[in-house]
Amino acid sequence: MARQAHLLLIPYPAQGHVPPLLKLAQKIAERGIKVTFVNTEFIEAKIMATMPENVEKGSLIRFVSIPDGIEHGDDRNDPFKTKDCMYRVMPGHLKELIEKINQSDQCEPITCVVADICLGWALEIAHEMGIPRAALVPYGPPTLAISYHVKKFFDAGIIDNDGYAMPTTDEFIWISEGTLPWKRNKYNWSCPNEPKIQKVFLEITCAVFETVRISNWVLSNSIYELDSSNCDLVPKILPIGPLLASNHSGNLAGSLMLEDSTCLRWLDSQAIGSVIYVALGSTTTLSRQQFEELALGLESSGQPFLWVVRSNLVNESLARFPDGFREKLADRGKIVEWAAQEKVLAHPSVACFLSHCGWNSTMEGLSMGVPFLCWPYFADQYQNRRFICEVWKIGLDLTSDENGIISRQEIQRKVRKLINDDAIKSNSLKIKEMAGKSLLEGGSSFINFERFIDQVKSN
Ligand code: UDP
Repeated sequence: MARQAHLLLIPYPAQGHVPPLLKLAQKIAERGIKVTFVNTEFIEAKIMATMPENVEKGSLIRFVSIPDGIEHGDDRNDPFKTKDCMYRVMPGHLKELIEKINQSDQCEPITCVVADICLGWALEIAHEMGIPRAALVPYGPPTLAISYHVKKFFDAGIIDNDGYAMPTTDEFIWISEGTLPWKRNKYNWSCPNEPKIQKVFLEITCAVFETVRISNWVLSNSIYELDSSNCDLVPKILPIGPLLASNHSGNLAGSLMLEDSTCLRWLDSQAIGSVIYVALGSTTTLSRQQFEELALGLESSGQPFLWVVRSNLVNESLARFPDGFREKLADRGKIVEWAAQEKVLAHPSVACFLSHCGWNSTMEGLSMGVPFLCWPYFADQYQNRRFICEVWKIGLDLTSDENGIISRQEIQRKVRKLINDDAIKSNSLKIKEMAGKSLLEGGSSFINFERFIDQVKSN
């Protein structure tokens, strides 16, 4: 007889990675399956502090935390240090935790480990312990496919094997005929002017092949019909998206920052289909000049706007809003440090989403049928932008000038153009409908998720 299923889920400890795992945890728990959700202590403290009060903490899911090895006062933004610490410290703690659970009389042993695909070591531990395992992919199928096949570009000499993976000759690289090619220096590991970070991204990219090889399932936060050609290039893939908090009774978005709910009331007071929602994710930074241009572009657009300005959005300490900006635009512009993004995107007052095209934001925006203004910053965001503008045709691109700045005039022009573009609006609604249908009985994501659940239950 099959044992009672008990899944252990572990996200990569960062804002763009915790929410999709937490949304998956809710989806699994709603099927009556026990879930143990493992965060680092640092992340767990943040999640618990930002959980809505009406959510009974841990009612669906048991939260457990392990140390990440980063000392108090160490720089958590240093990608080398964090990666090193995690590799050194976390695997031992995870193994110990699984052993402890498996020996306990109080709960069922772990029957499946689901880890972020960036945590290949967690899946290796499950592999060694003989526990079935699934990788959850928080980025899109294009990034998954290029990561899985990247070795063939090294072998063919198309990308330099010098640790930074710069292209050698071609303008474009093609994973396979029928998929959108990748533009030179716009790869998922590309990080302009930050070679050290690019190296870390490349290491993560190169690890994907082995992680997929040792996984039993590769769960993708996407929809098969959105990008079937890239999905077809990766074995074991089960697209089960969009993973959305709003689809679950627990409604845990997994925010690491406190959401400012006043913006929802402010949206209620705005005209239907009028507001530009501006949010560039959790890590994007802007120069002082770029920040000012964005502010002035929003002002000159003439539209109301809701702008997420994180305390670390601007990378120069003296940056500030242009003189009189906040006072002048008090009625028309709402500025918050962090928003309940899914709820904002679902609000009827929102006309468009000025986004950095992170994959979560992309899935959330397209699921709500909101047209995009694309402002990618690094990594997979470039290719996500191309899918938004060129393949799905649900958004417009913002173009930089000769100094690399997106000018206020460009912002004003593209806002006007997007708001008046009926074809983009209609495509956005079609994609929204497709996303909704994929989750309903008989839809592709529904079927894939059921397949995963059935197999997990019968293990
Ligand atoms: N997000 C949010 N409030 C904000 C801005 C962003 O809740 O004000 C969430 C957003 O809904 C998404 C995540 O933060 O789930 C950002 O992930 P994404 O992959 O888009 O970008 P990253 O932060 O990884 O660059």
